Amino acid sequence: MIVLVLGAGQLAQMMALASKPLNIEVRAYDVGSERVIDPLSLNVNYGDLTENIKIADVITAEFEHINHDVLKMCEQSGKLFPSSQAIKTGGDRRLEKTLLEQVGVANAKYKIVANKTDFDAAIESLTLPLIMKSALAGYDGKGQWRLKSKSESEAIWQDIQQFIEGDTSGQPQAIVIEQMVPFDREVSMVGVRSQNGQTLAYPLTENHHNNGVLSISLANNQHQHQQLQHQATQAFDKIANKLNYVGVLAIEFFQVGETLLVNEIAPRVHNSGHWTQQGADTCQFENHIRAVCQLPLGSTELVRPSAMINILGTDVIPNSILSIPSMAIHWYGKSKRSGRKMGHINVCGKNKAELISRLNQLSEILPIADFPDVSDYVKSL
Ligand code: AMP
Repeated sequence: MIVLVLGAGQLAQMMALASKPLNIEVRAYDVGSERVIDPLSLNVNYGDLTENIKIADVITAEFEHINHDVLKMCEQSGKLFPSSQAIKTGGDRRLEKTLLEQVGVANAKYKIVANKTDFDAAIESLTLPLIMKSALAGYDGKGQWRLKSKSESEAIWQDIQQFIEGDTSGQPQAIVIEQMVPFDREVSMVGVRSQNGQTLAYPLTENHHNNGVLSISLANNQHQHQQLQHQATQAFDKIANKLNYVGVLAIEFFQVGETLLVNEIAPRVHNSGHWTQQGADTCQFENHIRAVCQLPLGSTELVRPSAMINILGTDVIPNSILSIPSMAIHWYGKSKRSGRKMGHINVCGKNKAELISRLNQLSEILPIADFPDVSDYVKSL
């Protein structure tokens, strides 16, 4: 069986690794070169997209910002899972917000803004501070602004106007302005839905960000947060069922007291689910492949408390961390660039105390320059 993944990054790579034991071959469409390649070696060229759409048994995606013509072509083959509508919803905050309203899932108060009149009206009607996000993908790291006081609004509008005018996506760009949520913590739920509508969810994962980028995820026993797990599972089921979703879907939440508000959804395997490679019965990559290939889903049970630490912007870490038990390094084989996701570390323990002790050992070895927030986070546990 051949699965064609739209996108040839680390997520396609990890899907390929999880597929091999199932005797499933993963090929990846590299949107940059427009070639279909082997996501592991990166140097085997399988030809162009049209040819590979014919060859593939199933087509799926590892990211949501895919050219709509490509999605259309794939959908017409009848092999694309999840649907192009689900993928587009994850790539456009306007569609995402509409979906959340349709299914009645709580999220931050917001307004959609495409011009100065909407912008002024949104600032008047929402309560500051605000966060402004481009509806479609940002580019060159642009696409998010924060407004603390009304005096900053003119300058921010100038910037937003330039951003909208500079957009080359060919689709109408806009800004979603959201009220800042005074959250206690950020969590996410990764779950999977099969073609016959069965859903299974992994335990809620606590996520720690540094400068807006995921740094550490922590997954512990779900019975400790039963009420939150239940809320998140209900949101997952409503969203996945409404989209008639097939595959792994991630939902990021803000936790405020005992309530979860959706931040965003990702129609794909997700960075906050990487711990499942060592900490769950079936990892998210295998479950995604099982779902899109119509195989029975695997158990999403946590088998041991686990943490994932992203390796950002460096291609060297001390190999001595491997002497700590239940430690795994996953490199993506990418060339080094500042802030780039280069790999991740998974660490597990048979209980939370053992996990924390191993995280402490790890944070003593990891260079602070490359992992500036790990030590403080671990101390806070
Ligand atoms: P996003 O690209 O929407 O995931 O935003 C990146 C990060 O910005 C999130 O992980 C939060 O830490 C923060 N953030 C985004 N939206 C909000 C919000 N409405 N309120 C508070 N923080 C937010």
